Formats: sequence, C-alpha cells, structure tokens
Amino acid sequence: MDATTNSGANTGFVGIKFCQECNNMLYPKEDKENRILLYACRRCDFHQAADNPCIYVNKITHEVDELTQIVTDVISDPTLPRTSDHPCPKCRGHDAVFFQAQSARSEDRMTLYYVCRNQDCLYRWTE
Ligand SMILES: [Zn+2]
Ligand SMILES: [Zn+2]
Repeated sequence: MDATTNSGANTGFVGIKFCQECNNMLYPKEDKENRILLYACRRCDFHQAADNPCIYVNKITHEVDELTQIVTDVISDPTLPRTSDHPCPKCRGHDAVFFQAQSARSEDRMTLYYVCRNQDCLYRWTE
C-alpha cells in the first residue's frame, strides 16, 4: 500500500552502533560547535558523525501529516459508518466516524480508528 512496506531497515529504528576501538556501545551526543549529532564512546575518545540523524524525526512528521489528511477526508465521507456508541474522549460528543486502516506502528495489523465529527474537535483515537 505504501513505500515503507518492504523497507524493514527504515521503520524509525536508528540502530545501535558500537565503538570501533573497544566495542562498547556508542551514545548519541550533540556536537555543539558544529551543530551535528555524533555517536561517542564513553570508554575511549572514539566518536563518529551520525549517518542519518533525521530519519526518526522525518518518519514521525510524515505519519502525522498523513493522519491529518486521512481525518480531513473521513469526516466528510458520507459512506463511512458512524457511531454514537463511542463517545469522543476529548469533547464527549456522540458523533464519530470509524474506519479500519493499517496501523502506523505495526504494518501487518489492522487498527480501528475513530474520528470525532465535531468540527471544533476532530479528535481521533483508536481502540
Ligand atoms: Zn571506545
Ligand atoms: Zn470530540
């Protein structure tokens, strides 16, 4: 359904790195002078620049945008089922639409999403 399906290495997990000198775990560390992210060893002086410090942040931003788009679409979709049995946790309104979609966290699991139809609220939640 989307491009992330077969890229297991890019699911937001940056990975653990090990020191090339002493094999201890490297910890992320900010290089304040150069404004970059480093991985530094706590045992020795070894450090290296992080290859991809932005993967995780990009992934989150992407998911939020996607979900916002979905919400805008679903509350104006007259074909989606509506429910009054699941009050909105935020505004306590009893008018929500629900739909099933692939979970953002687990690619092989379908999740039921609820979206509040109160225009001032638009809160979404899952069960
Ligand atoms: Zn080391
Ligand atoms: Zn609401």
